[in-house]
Amino acid sequence: QAARRNSTAEWQAQDLAHHLHPFTDQHALPGHGVRVIARAEGTYLFDSDGRRLLDAFAGLWCVNLGYGRKELAKVAYDQMIELPYYNTFFKTTTPPAAELSKILADITPKGLDRVFYGLSGSDANDTIARMARHYWNLMGKKTKKTIIGRHNGYHGSTMAAASMGGMTYMHAIADLPLPGFVHIQQPYWYGEGGDLSPAEFGRKAAKALEDKILELGPENCAAFVGEPIQGAGGVIIPPETYWPEIQRICKQYDLLVIADEVICGFGRTGYWFASEHFKIEPDFMTLAKGLTSGYLPLSAVMVGKRVADVIAGDKGGEFNHGYTYSGHPVSCAVAIENIRLLREEGLVTRVHNETGPYLAKRLQELKDHPLVGEVRTLGFIGAIELVKDKAKRQFFKPVGEVGTICRDHCFANGLVMRATRDTMLLSPPLLWTAAHVDEFMELTRKALDLTL
Ligand code: PLP
Repeated sequence: QAARRNSTAEWQAQDLAHHLHPFTDQHALPGHGVRVIARAEGTYLFDSDGRRLLDAFAGLWCVNLGYGRKELAKVAYDQMIELPYYNTFFKTTTPPAAELSKILADITPKGLDRVFYGLSGSDANDTIARMARHYWNLMGKKTKKTIIGRHNGYHGSTMAAASMGGMTYMHAIADLPLPGFVHIQQPYWYGEGGDLSPAEFGRKAAKALEDKILELGPENCAAFVGEPIQGAGGVIIPPETYWPEIQRICKQYDLLVIADEVICGFGRTGYWFASEHFKIEPDFMTLAKGLTSGYLPLSAVMVGKRVADVIAGDKGGEFNHGYTYSGHPVSCAVAIENIRLLREEGLVTRVHNETGPYLAKRLQELKDHPLVGEVRTLGFIGAIELVKDKAKRQFFKPVGEVGTICRDHCFANGLVMRATRDTMLLSPPLLWTAAHVDEFMELTRKALDLTL
């Protein structure tokens, strides 16, 4: 242990020489070196030099239960001894995969009663892209192929998931989107709403879906995909008028609705699923991250009755798709225990009734800061948007530079936040109490003052 603690420089050198990092400018690494996060407890991270950091980001929107939960480690250990692996192909299952399927059917919104497992949010969205096409093919509507997403939406990094997403910088590196994936305006009122009220803008952003469907022809449109709240895009919480209108349009033109709850699920918004809050009635729901609190990789595609009855019905045939690790027994066992603990400790209810509202109230105080244009939260997902001139709602140029500076000040002061453009994002473990929120506020204000 002592030797390991002393080798930060060695790890940095090994990493720099051999490790290609996700979403990283590799060439820029040598100047700064990489941070080595060595251990964690509760909501605190410790780097390899023993420095303590308050994690306001739950790892990467995923460690909902917090770090160091021995119950999860024990369940994983026991399951590895009992049955470390078996596949779920060829008419077999395992006890954890079967049991988790029943639990997920019970806790997700009504009608989502079937589940298909993967290992990441990205592969789950790829599964949905294939399943949606398979469904329409079986229905004899073979031209219904196009999936409509939003600019600045994020659905993962595989070819289909990145095509569903609307991140142009991701498309640029590999000539995406693939054919059959298009994008409409995002419901980002603060940045794109102009003079419209949030309610008016919500309707306008939803109308973009109808316009796109009419442009393409409803007979060519398979599905609409959206995160209830865009996470990686900057915690964009749509106006209340948005989702009901999206739902109505999808019904009118017969499109499947895909709610990507990879970030929003498992209590993040103070609801088990954000679809409950926004009254979305999805045909598919994508789950990952908080499903295991990030302790092991696992994703789940929840499939609604309409689709399940067809693909698992008498004319469904073989669904030729799957992963070696679909329904991995150790990941499923950890997910079962994770959900049990979230329930037993009442963390989702606490975020909804107490800690979420307290965080929202305290964040509002930041609006007096000269840099802060808008704050937005729902439960334990939030954003602090930094602007050059708040009266004129004028953004910094180049976009992202100030957010990056603020993020570095956060880090230097013992706080981990993420910056997207010039928006500071937070997504803490659900275990935060009022005292954690107070600590967060103090560190954040300090970082904002230093950024001025
Ligand atoms: N969907 C959403 C909404 C996400 O935020 C993410 C990841 O952040 C993904 C999908 C992709 O998940 P993964 O990184 O596990 O592939």
